[in-house]
Amino acid sequence: MEAILINGKEIAQKTRMDIAEEVKKLKENGNVPGLAVILVGNNHASRTYVNNKEKACKDLGMLSLLIELPESLHENDLLAKIKELNEDPTIHGILVQLPLPKQINEKKVIESISPEKDVDGFHPINIGRMMTGQETFLPCTPFGIMVMLKEMEIETEGKHVVIVGRSNIVGKPSGQLFLNENATVTYCHSRTKDLKFHTRQADILVSAVGIANFITADHVSDGAVVIDVGMNRDENGKLCGDVAFETVKQKAGYITPVPGGVGPMTITMLMYNTMKSAKNASMAQHV
Ligand code: NDP
Repeated sequence: MEAILINGKEIAQKTRMDIAEEVKKLKENGNVPGLAVILVGNNHASRTYVNNKEKACKDLGMLSLLIELPESLHENDLLAKIKELNEDPTIHGILVQLPLPKQINEKKVIESISPEKDVDGFHPINIGRMMTGQETFLPCTPFGIMVMLKEMEIETEGKHVVIVGRSNIVGKPSGQLFLNENATVTYCHSRTKDLKFHTRQADILVSAVGIANFITADHVSDGAVVIDVGMNRDENGKLCGDVAFETVKQKAGYITPVPGGVGPMTITMLMYNTMKSAKNASMAQHV
């Protein structure tokens, strides 16, 4: 039997309707959620991501502030800009589009964003909060995966989740969120020996590698849930994930497509975090 499709686009639309309701309530009380996006240089992919974020903000009635800075920017000028935004009460979320030019230290930049406005959930303080199960901004892609599974009523407790990829923005925090939901988690990466041995044991397999057709039917057990985070280009330049979709869907129980899977959820959770930050700020006003 073919796998059930996890339609990220549809789930994202539903989630955005809930966010829009919350934004409406905030605006009625004079609080417009505001997201500042900083784009340094002229990376084509980064510009596309930034445009999509701007559009999502506008569609939800949120304020979107795009700050474009030159490739040759000095690190101190970026830090000064972030300081200004940290202090700006109309801005609730600050996002610096990565990657940054070589002369700028990404770690330093991320750490300069106020944790209360870190809607990407990349600040070490927020990562620590996530690890210890405290209230925080969850990183958008892993958060989106969890929301999709909840919407599909796919149980995570007691399940064996295998994550391929251990980046700070996707792989590692994904595993942590599954652990917080009482799953048993295995991380795989480029030094893992006998990858298939591990992936075949997964009830839920998450691939965040960045190589087209990397996960084949051989990697997957019958009925497994397959979440494809990858965003790659195939030999014809078409957007595709890490998973060989056509063959894996014959074996899996559930599968996310690319496009229309994890991608739309990522941007939606960014909107959610910005709305949540505005809500936190408005509650702080009333204390
Ligand atoms: P990174 O390049 O930072 O991480 C890739 C991971 O894959 C690393 O941990 C690496 O291992 C592992 N890996 C590489 N080769 C192999 C291999 N042969 N066997 C096993 N593991 C391997 O990528 P990101 O986490 O940033 O992104 C992953 C993918 O997800 C990309 O395609 C990216 O475009 C996409 N993405 C999609 C998003 C969405 O919204 N849909 C959001 C963010 C990313 P090691 O650590 O050992 O090097």
